[in-house]
Amino acid sequence: MNKYTVPFRSGSTDFYFEADLDNLVELAPIENSFIITDENLMMNYQSLLKRWPVIVVAPGEAAKSLEVLDDVVRQLLALNAGRDALIIGFGGGVVTDLAGFVAGIYKRGVRCGLVPTSVLGMVDAAIGGKNGLNVGDYKNMMGLIRQPEFLLYDHELLQTLPQEEWINGFAEIIKHAAILDEPLFSLLQQHTLADFQQDKELLKQLIQTNALLKARLVQIDETETKERKWLNFGHTLAHSIETIYQLPHGHAVSIGMMMAAKMSESLLGFQNLQDLKQLIEQYQLPTQLNFDTTRVLLQLQADKKRMSENIQYVLLEKIGKAVLYPLSLSQIQSAWST
Ligand code: NAD
Repeated sequence: MNKYTVPFRSGSTDFYFEADLDNLVELAPIENSFIITDENLMMNYQSLLKRWPVIVVAPGEAAKSLEVLDDVVRQLLALNAGRDALIIGFGGGVVTDLAGFVAGIYKRGVRCGLVPTSVLGMVDAAIGGKNGLNVGDYKNMMGLIRQPEFLLYDHELLQTLPQEEWINGFAEIIKHAAILDEPLFSLLQQHTLADFQQDKELLKQLIQTNALLKARLVQIDETETKERKWLNFGHTLAHSIETIYQLPHGHAVSIGMMMAAKMSESLLGFQNLQDLKQLIEQYQLPTQLNFDTTRVLLQLQADKKRMSENIQYVLLEKIGKAVLYPLSLSQIQSAWST
């Protein structure tokens, strides 16, 4: 195992890179640890997970709801989980969000460790302590910022990840490169998804680089007042079109990144629109969607990122350099329509 301790303002997280599930036994004592996972993961990893008491939820976004939270808490009570319990979220972003939330509120808060199992979970969702539940169509309307004690990375888990989820996860990796890291952008240009799937060392490096990129942003700005907002690049549009058009998250983010890049070109003279488009296509993600601007704007108005009249849109000055650019809804509407 390769341990990095990252101190955040509200607590530190141990990142165990190059670990495997046997290491989880050392970190999560059988007597007071409780796994939360979903049916797909349970099906694939039952023989490993059954060492612990396991709470299994249905896969998919619907698990991030108050109903499922209530059910999970009841199961923990039935299992006699005490105040010394350690909740382990074992899954993609849905499970790690849910598990982080459960740990934050169960008996006023118990310990939490996460084992991300999707690309998106490893490079993004499990990092930074944010965990949200949805309210109807509105994503992440309830949540906490509470750092997990540890994150355990076992890259072998990705072997069972469906291809479409690999592709979704790479949208966030492209996002990290676009907002923060020009050399990472070049590395991605030189490879394909298949390269990362076949070359374990290349994949490990990529995931570790991305995990630490996100961790560094959270270190600088845990409560999302400025720099952490850069991670919303592509997401202002993505959250709305994802809900309305039922798009996979990575697809919605890619379309959102392209729209933000076009806006960056006209507002800031961003010069790499074609490079970004090519990279997104290279990783089998879409770059455009004909959407109903008025309908999407209505959805956006309810988005939690609208602090006041203006929305802090994340734009690019250049590859590797994001900026926040305040725009009114009417300015956004006209930018989207051109
Ligand atoms: P997900 O958790 O729904 O996982 C995608 C699918 O892949 C699911 O069907 C899951 O069962 C399956 N899966 C995951 N790992 C697998 C594996 N190793 N083998 C086989 N199947 C596997 O989706 P996701 O893309 O991982 O995460 C999306 C969620 O993350 C959203 O709810 C989003 O809001 C949240 N998120 C949170 C943050 C944050 O900072 N908290 C950041 C980004 C995204």
